[in-house]
Amino acid sequence: MIVDTHVHLDAAEFAADVDAVMRAARAAGVGRFVVPAVTPAMFDGIARLAAAHAEIAPAWGLHPLYVEQLEDDALARLRAQIAAQPPVAIGEIGLDAYPGAPDWARQQRIFQAQLALARELGLPVIVHARRAVEAVIQMLRQERPPGGIVHAFNGSAQQARQLLDCNFRLGFGGAMTFAGSTRIRRLAAELPLDAIVLETDAPDIPPAWANGTRTEPAWIARYAQVLADLRGVPLAEIVARTSENARAALPALMQDKADPLVPNETTVTAMRAARAGELEAVTLEEIRDDIQSAQT
Ligand SMILES: [Zn+2]
Repeated sequence: MIVDTHVHLDAAEFAADVDAVMRAARAAGVGRFVVPAVTPAMFDGIARLAAAHAEIAPAWGLHPLYVEQLEDDALARLRAQIAAQPPVAIGEIGLDAYPGAPDWARQQRIFQAQLALARELGLPVIVHARRAVEAVIQMLRQERPPGGIVHAFNGSAQQARQLLDCNFRLGFGGAMTFAGSTRIRRLAAELPLDAIVLETDAPDIPPAWANGTRTEPAWIARYAQVLADLRGVPLAEIVARTSENARAALPALMQDKADPLVPNETTVTAMRAARAGELEAVTLEEIRDDIQSAQT
């Protein structure tokens, strides 16, 4: 099964049809959805979704793009939420230096406080680092959270290695589907496979084929195929290894009744969709062999 390590299923774009969206994703092989919060106002909505769907794993956090709207008690509410409903990570937190982003000093203060909380509680973090990878690395080295994921990674090979040294995995998704994303595609092809997790960031970060529509969580099966093609390895190996990596980055994913990393009919359907046309030749046995050899 595939783990989508970053998907905003609580976003307004999915409000009308989230059940159908999740059904389509499950049919494409997704077994876990990590849904990170962006403000305390979103906590209840995500908690409701998680109560209705066992495959949803919440993360609680304060996103850098919303720090100016936060009430004074936001950090206290975060701590209370973590105590009330233990998350797989503190997230989505981080730094954003895009033009028009909120006050930098305030972003840094909120990020630093959440990293300190992660270290105190032994929780991994899910990090947003837009045009701010260097500053994020500095802050991680200073505050030393246990590890986690830098989502939608868009840094250099050297920064990638520095993050791996801090026990982070790197999220790859829609950006690597563009032929012109040469740096991201090279990283996706050349980083150790242990470093990579898959994500959609749906409804955001469109892939090459999105055409202005919302990003669908089911598309992650095609992202897995893109990664398999970039690395020249079987799709089943990508599915198995990136799911293991997600569980290594977010150990609480292992405590919820996780599906075993063996192919089931759903995974096979996903692979069929992903390979679009060439899968007639691929049987369940072949995929199982692929996964077993990937795991040994
Ligand atoms: Zn996000």
